[in-house]
Formats: sequence, C-alpha cells, structure tokens
Amino acid sequence: MYTVTRYHDISCGHRVCGHENKCSHLHGHNYRITFVCTGELDSVGRVIDFSVIKDRLCMWLEKNFDHRFLIWEDDPLADPLLALDPKVVKVPFNPTAENIAEYLVKTVAPKQLEGTGVKLVRCDVEETRKCTASYIL
Ligand SMILES: [Zn+2]
Repeated sequence: MYTVTRYHDISCGHRVCGHENKCSHLHGHNYRITFVCTGELDSVGRVIDFSVIKDRLCMWLEKNFDHRFLIWEDDPLADPLLALDPKVVKVPFNPTAENIAEYLVKTVAPKQLEGTGVKLVRCDVEETRKCTASYIL
C-alpha cells in the first residue's frame, strides 16, 4: 500500500467540555494536523499530487478552523460565545484532538477528496509538541 502524508499548521481555540482540569477553560493551540492518504498510483506514479492534498484538505482547515474557536454544539457556552462572535464554529462533537481527527477522516475528507480516488486513512492532531491524537480508518 502506498501512502502520502502532508501536514498543515493552524491556530484554533477550543475547550473540552467535562474535562477534569484546565482543558475545560477557553484556550487554544497551535495545532499541527497531519493527513495520511492512500490510493492506487496514477500514470505518473503518484497516489495524488501533494498540491491536491493542500488544496482539498489543508485549505479546508484554513477556511473553516484556522483562527476560529471550536465549540461543541451541546456545550452550554456555545450559544453565548456565538452571540459574542458569529465566527465561532459550532461542531457536532466535544472538540478533543481525538474527535477532531475522527471528524476530519469521516466527515470532511470524503467530501473534500470526492472524485480523486484517494482516501484519507489517518489523521494526527497534534495539540502540543508532546501530545498527539490519531484517528485511523
Ligand atoms: Zn486544548
């Protein structure tokens, strides 16, 4: 199996609802998000051109998550925060690194990679240089 990997860095706010400690506070990270795609080789000998991963996945992050605050739609702070800043992003999951990775693999990538014949099979969401969560299909 061939894989191709590209990462993208974004800055994002979040809070983890129900966290026992300081992650329940409003805070943010300089996230590094790594995409691992797989597929058959094309006539040139590539799974997919790296620029297509950039255009389809990295630019999705730029447009939808970068410099935004992610808040779970069930979080009691969701509506008050949205009232203060309409650019706050309501997401259908508690925004842990694990859940962000799964959402990118299962919800975002299938739409973004449609027609390429390529699949996102792994996503790593790094919150700090020491802490990364992954979702692997
Ligand atoms: Zn955090």
